[in-house]
Amino acid sequence: MKLAVTEDRLSRHSAESLSFMDTEDMLRLKVKLLTAGARLPEGVSSGRRGGAGPVRGRYFVLPSGRSCGIPIRRGAEAERFGSAPLEPTEDPTIWLYDSSVELRMIEKPDFLGLTTEDGLPYSQIALLHCTDCLATTVYQSCRYWDEGTQCAFCTIPTSLEGGDTILDKSPSHIAEVVDSAEKRGIIRHVLLTTGTPEGEDMGTTRMVNIIREIRKSSEIPIGVQFEAPHDISLIDEVVQAGASAIGIHIESADEAVREKMCPGKHQHASRDLYIRAWKHAVGLLGRGNVSTFLLHGLGEDTQLTMNFIDEIAEIGVMPILAPVRPAPGSHLANYIPSYVGDLDGSLRTYKNLGNALYKWGLNPDSSVAGCQSCGGCTPIHEAYDWAASL
Ligand code: SF4
Repeated sequence: MKLAVTEDRLSRHSAESLSFMDTEDMLRLKVKLLTAGARLPEGVSSGRRGGAGPVRGRYFVLPSGRSCGIPIRRGAEAERFGSAPLEPTEDPTIWLYDSSVELRMIEKPDFLGLTTEDGLPYSQIALLHCTDCLATTVYQSCRYWDEGTQCAFCTIPTSLEGGDTILDKSPSHIAEVVDSAEKRGIIRHVLLTTGTPEGEDMGTTRMVNIIREIRKSSEIPIGVQFEAPHDISLIDEVVQAGASAIGIHIESADEAVREKMCPGKHQHASRDLYIRAWKHAVGLLGRGNVSTFLLHGLGEDTQLTMNFIDEIAEIGVMPILAPVRPAPGSHLANYIPSYVGDLDGSLRTYKNLGNALYKWGLNPDSSVAGCQSCGGCTPIHEAYDWAASL
């Protein structure tokens, strides 16, 4: 399965991309889109309002053939971030970015308008991320919100409050939507994430039950995300159930930033626990199939971040460096990330990331599932391509 996926993706991307833009151009475009964002005309949706992961973005296919979840900004915020316009063209699927680059908008697929056998809208159970990743937040709440120690960038309750989703998705509902999407040839992999529930298992029991249900009828690659459990053996259960990739997200390599931005998570797990959990998961799933998010733009120390990236890439953990996306409903609603106005500095950072990925043989295209496989919210694919082309 792993080889087939890799070869298919490489052939899909390479032919179109390299003749049109070189790897430096592609990296610069992706970094600019993910940091500055773009403006859409009034009346065009800005994407989902809240939930896990970056919100208020629309998915587009870039000239390289890869995808990008572009943050959509308007008004004063767009001015602050320097967001260039996305303008319609004669072809309703094609939009012109910054008067120069044609991007293809990825529309919400029709199948998300269906309902389950017992009448629940598919769109309340899962969403499509980029072109081929079915993603769901299996538990749409988090104990840190209850304690007032939530991550500063988090909007997990917003989509629940807005009626866009449900609190606790059942294994059978998720498996039904996966089955439906897979039969229609829409998806290539599945992403299961979660807010952290009460209890010591950090949500892994819920994940095991869902994976087992999916595995009754499908071999599709499944990426799973949860917080580092103190009992490392819980990771074995997730893998034995059939997970293909695991994300355990430390969010920042800079401990001062992590303590300030993720007080609940910081209190729960030391950096040592993350390292132990990652090493254990890499031993089970192989290099590149274990990942961690590292947010860019929270005022983190760049050198410290790069040293950490080198350290974890060496042990086989995929560092998903991604620009933080401030959103209403979070503590960072009016935050101005440290990358704003410094595209060249951001580009240098992602080139260093690409060098580390290449040095340690971590090609995101070789990952079978998870955010590192999709790559819509991070320039890691483009950074690797740039480093590999030198
Ligand atoms: S761990 Fe942090 S980012 Fe994740 S759901 Fe909880 S508060 Fe949000």
